[in-house]
Amino acid sequence: MIHCAIIAREIDDMTIRNWTRRACLLAGAALLAPAGIPRARAKQFDDGAIEQPPEAGDAAFMARAFAMQQDAREAGDQAYGAVVVRAGRIVGQAPSRVLTAGDPTAHAEMEAIRDAARRLGSRKLSGCILYSSSRACPMCEAAAYWAGIDGMRFGRGARDAGRPGLC
Ligand SMILES: [Zn+2]
Repeated sequence: MIHCAIIAREIDDMTIRNWTRRACLLAGAALLAPAGIPRARAKQFDDGAIEQPPEAGDAAFMARAFAMQQDAREAGDQAYGAVVVRAGRIVGQAPSRVLTAGDPTAHAEMEAIRDAARRLGSRKLSGCILYSSSRACPMCEAAAYWAGIDGMRFGRGARDAGRPGLC
């Protein structure tokens, strides 16, 4: 009986300690939130699986790049979109987030490359093709080069822009 009472008190103490700990963590989180990563930035990645087009191919991948462009437009951002494809599957996609994230480097291609690298868990994107609604700018082409992307296509007609290089 006494033993039970001691255990009950220990449990009570543990619960109180847990609550105290939780309260401290919550307070810490509340303090850190405004100084931490801005919300728009933190929410930028879609953690769900990427819906794949019914038929793989340049037309379908470019259609997705333009769907990303539409997302950018609807979000009030610059109208650009891009996707990264490997082995016939979209492995990264993004609209431009320059305005919504307040980041001059958040071009659609940069964001799609980041998305692909994060999803694949690798900074090396060899075997990948970058599709973008407009031809990649020098910054994005250099990023594609450093990521080891094999090729670039752009525009409605999926024109081949070749292998990325350092401009
Ligand atoms: Zn760019």
